[in-house]
Amino acid sequence: MKYLSTRGGGAPLSFKETVLTGLARDGGLFLPAEIPDITDKLAAWRHMTYSDLAFEIMRLYADDLPDSALRAIIDKSYGVFRHAEVTPVVNVGALHILELFHGPTLAFKDVALQFLGNLFEYYLEEDNAELNIVAATSGDTGSAAIHGVRGRDRIRIFVLHPNGRVSSVQERQMTSVLDDNVFNLGVTGTFDDCQNIVKALFGDLSFRDKYKLGAVNSINWARVLAQVVYYFYAAFQVQIKTGAGQVRFAVPTGNFGDIFAGYIARRMGLPIDKLVLATNENDILTRYFHTGEYTLGEVYPTLSPSMDIQMASNFERYLYYLCNSKPTLLAQCMEELKRSGSLKVDPIRPDYSFVAGRADTAATIAAIKQYWEEYAYLLDPHTAVGVAVASRFMVEEVPMIALATAHPAKFGDAIKRATGENMAHHAAIDALAGLPTRKEIIAPDCGAVAKFIGGKIEAAVTGARGMTYEP
Ligand SMILES: *Cc1c(COP(=O)(O)O)cnc(C)c1O
Repeated sequence: MKYLSTRGGGAPLSFKETVLTGLARDGGLFLPAEIPDITDKLAAWRHMTYSDLAFEIMRLYADDLPDSALRAIIDKSYGVFRHAEVTPVVNVGALHILELFHGPTLAFKDVALQFLGNLFEYYLEEDNAELNIVAATSGDTGSAAIHGVRGRDRIRIFVLHPNGRVSSVQERQMTSVLDDNVFNLGVTGTFDDCQNIVKALFGDLSFRDKYKLGAVNSINWARVLAQVVYYFYAAFQVQIKTGAGQVRFAVPTGNFGDIFAGYIARRMGLPIDKLVLATNENDILTRYFHTGEYTLGEVYPTLSPSMDIQMASNFERYLYYLCNSKPTLLAQCMEELKRSGSLKVDPIRPDYSFVAGRADTAATIAAIKQYWEEYAYLLDPHTAVGVAVASRFMVEEVPMIALATAHPAKFGDAIKRATGENMAHHAAIDALAGLPTRKEIIAPDCGAVAKFIGGKIEAAVTGARGMTYEP
């Protein structure tokens, strides 16, 4: 499989090159040159275990990895999950809830980032090379990425989070990791500031090459790929249970990475009749799907901080398909967006795969309360946004699968607000209390961040080799 930039620059890359490059050098995002149609494999795949299914799906895209290596990476990545099924589906009321929070940091991002950490390690060993990961996080990516690469020899990780705007648990999950290869930066700005700095660092090609930058944000294709797997797994579980043909998925959305994986699954031939896109008050994507206009606004802090995003980076991948896979058209769209902060998209081919809705703080709280009172099931606030919006798109004959993207214990304050008491606990969260932490507070300034990162890399390399830094 070859991979191309959405903006048309550069030669096609292999899977390995795509994973190690992260963001394309022309500023675009990588997409596979074609999406395999697996309709004829659906029946054979239906009863597979999570790992077997992951292997079958991933090998279509990761075709430069030997089968034995891919198997080993998958087994290692999903062996650390706390549930034997990896991503189990539970039936709660009229909904099927896909629990994606059984990984090390209790958020769905572990599914992709455990895989990516092991994949990086494999490739870097193969090349006898090093990688410096630079990532922006609205809360969950950072801790999942850090847990995916902590303590590894060939990798350093620098994570930018908006200082004071992630939950205290999310912050502790990152800053209590004291391994030498982990650096947390609390940026005194918003998540969008963090994301813009990361994009600017990747856009500075000499900095990027000098320090061998790597990406773990959902701009990395391997993350989308790992997430495609659970759409298949969940659809099969629910089809087996209910006898249904088509299914719907409700996806709490921020950066459009998770739901984009569902879109890929649908394009591969998985019978998904609708993807229900759910946002909180940061509803740029909901507005887009209602009006065709994508207009940036201010970031509004909510109970679901991992979705407090305006500029959804993976939306570019979707736009590329709306532009009929024409990079010049897509590049014009991105220019227009950058220039005016707004974009009117006239899709060449209309797309009926998405519906969208917004759930505000009151609706989020109401969903948590209702599921607790009626079913004694606790929704984390992100999942609650998805569940609240899902309730508007239920139809008799098509089962609705709601993605549970985080464990409620990560967001105890929201649980308390909704139910009057915080009864969401998890041993992994309780264990964080009182641990020593480390972070650097830094201005939302690309130069300052670049200087910090360059300095740490040079200090580590000269320290280890007892000589001056030569990239
Ligand atoms: C990251 C995150 C989301 C949003 O996922 P995107 O891929 O950014 O759309 C939703 N819920 C939780 C808990 C998350 O961590």
